[in-house]
Amino acid sequence: MSEARSGRLRVENASAGSREAFAAWVDGAPDGRVFGQVIVRPAPPFGYSLRHTDDAREAGLRVSEDPRAAREIAKLTEGGDYRPLKSSPNLRRGWELRVADARGLVTAMNYLYPAGVVHWYLNREGRLDLTSFRENAARQSGIYKRVQRLSDEGVLDAALACCEDAVCLKKTLWDVDEDTPLEVDRGEGEIPCPEPCSIFVSFARRVRLFERENDADGLSPSEKEDLAALVEAAATGEVGFAREAEFENPLNERRMRYRRLTLVPKLRRNG
Ligand code: SF4
Repeated sequence: MSEARSGRLRVENASAGSREAFAAWVDGAPDGRVFGQVIVRPAPPFGYSLRHTDDAREAGLRVSEDPRAAREIAKLTEGGDYRPLKSSPNLRRGWELRVADARGLVTAMNYLYPAGVVHWYLNREGRLDLTSFRENAARQSGIYKRVQRLSDEGVLDAALACCEDAVCLKKTLWDVDEDTPLEVDRGEGEIPCPEPCSIFVSFARRVRLFERENDADGLSPSEKEDLAALVEAAATGEVGFAREAEFENPLNERRMRYRRLTLVPKLRRNG
């Protein structure tokens, strides 16, 4: 059998196995299972019901019986912003999906949390391949190649700012490299994260730019820029976060979380 064909068969087997295992997991909990921000309940006679966890007891939701409706639900936040990272805790509310069977259930889940079910399954089976930050960085090219120079401390700070449950509901399973564990709270959720995602790599690139600034004493140019933007926003009474993946913007949430880790201690030390 060719390598491509055996690879395809492995993927098909994992996908069928994950569908059955996920449906059985949900069937075993009449009160429902939580996956990301979705509560999934067995709902005889029509199959399964999916809602936002905050809508678990809500009446008058917009009901759809088409699992592909999950695609639109997952696309935008409540405020209408595009969601570049589907595992961010900003899934909008107000909907219910009623799907007929395990196939519909997994189709909907794959729109809400791409690859979440198959990763969940492989992780439970002990077969999920993990890729460390350094392995991932070695494959980067172009403007992302610079993440190869990010220090271990920078990787840790970037993960604390980018991957904790407050900003991403996946369980961070990857490490800095095979000898250096990523010392973060891995998260409580059911959805594993086996490898740094593109949002993380983009954020890591920004953190590497910060590292390159000479900021041993005093404030670096970007730290001054962030403080000025914060004061400006506060003075106009309009403090709000920039879009999720706009790391070049001082008021980006992950960038602010990074500053809390690195800039606030520096200000307190020098004060
Ligand atoms: S790398 Fe971090 S931000 Fe990206 S999916 Fe994994 S845990 Fe979430």
